[in-house]
Amino acid sequence: LDIVGPMRVLVTGGSGLVGRAIERVVKEESGGREGETWIFLSSKDANLMSAEETRAVFEKHRPTHVIHLAAMVGGLFRNMRQNLDFWRNNVHINDNVLQAAHEFGVVKVVSCLSTCIFPDKTTYPIDETMVNTHTHTHTHFNKQILGWTYFQQYGQRYTAVIPTNVFGPHDNYNIEDGHVLPGLIHKTYLAKKEGKPLQVWGSGRALRQFIYSLDLARLFLWVLREYDEVEPIILSVGEEDELSIKFAADAVVEALGFEGDVIYDTSKADGQFKKTANNAKLRKYLPDFKFTPFRAAVKETCDWFVANYDSAR
Ligand code: GDP
Repeated sequence: LDIVGPMRVLVTGGSGLVGRAIERVVKEESGGREGETWIFLSSKDANLMSAEETRAVFEKHRPTHVIHLAAMVGGLFRNMRQNLDFWRNNVHINDNVLQAAHEFGVVKVVSCLSTCIFPDKTTYPIDETMVNTHTHTHTHFNKQILGWTYFQQYGQRYTAVIPTNVFGPHDNYNIEDGHVLPGLIHKTYLAKKEGKPLQVWGSGRALRQFIYSLDLARLFLWVLREYDEVEPIILSVGEEDELSIKFAADAVVEALGFEGDVIYDTSKADGQFKKTANNAKLRKYLPDFKFTPFRAAVKETCDWFVANYDSAR
């Protein structure tokens, strides 16, 4: 990459689950190198739905690199309620960020997609080649289309990663809007406090691959520094580590020491039964990368939640 001078990395969505994890890895694990500048933006710094504010924040910080995490996000149930809002807001955010990156000569952008970009009816496992062979309208998808288009028109390295279900400290712990693990952690915490049963939504049989936010952060730094393709890369544990929602609920129950009843509310949706993603491409590049074992990561996350209950989102 033809960068003149030290790297200046702007992280959009810098106060969210993944942004906070990247910040911690940069600070604590010498993920940041001498002379580098890291800027973690939050929604208070700029409204990225506004082209003007986006341009102003790029003007101010003059990044050479961008990690683009900002998006309107939520778990299955919020997605079902507000699908149109998600789509429209994210179209604006992505267009503004990629266009500003282009205008200010950013050499590399790493955007964050989600496995929701894959259609419901597909074959498993999902891999990177299937991003472009299916037509669909998921809210994250336009980032990738935009990235490719900038590459075709201007030769710019605007790439993307596709993580599976991420969890960890600083997640959105709102029960109605959030993803399954933070939702279960919050609900189990309350059930224990109030001496009530834990209500897991759906049958518990749906399968997911979970990635700890700190593992994802370490992989993000590798993508930023080493991964040179424009094609996206799936960042996930292997297919053998796909777990049922029941398994995840049991891990939370154990980590929080909850001893009450666990009820499965089958009047609530299971969503996609599975979304099995293949991480062979990641493994080809990083055969030795060690993921934090699931139970240990759940335990750390639960401990963080209990310690930060009053300030958790
Ligand atoms: P998804 O992976 O995009 O479907 O999103 P989620 O992280 O929201 O996971 C949804 C899966 O977890 C579905 O199978 C739900 O039935 C199940 N689930 C069980 N309890 C909860 C909960 O408290 N919150 C959420 N969001 N999902 C739950």
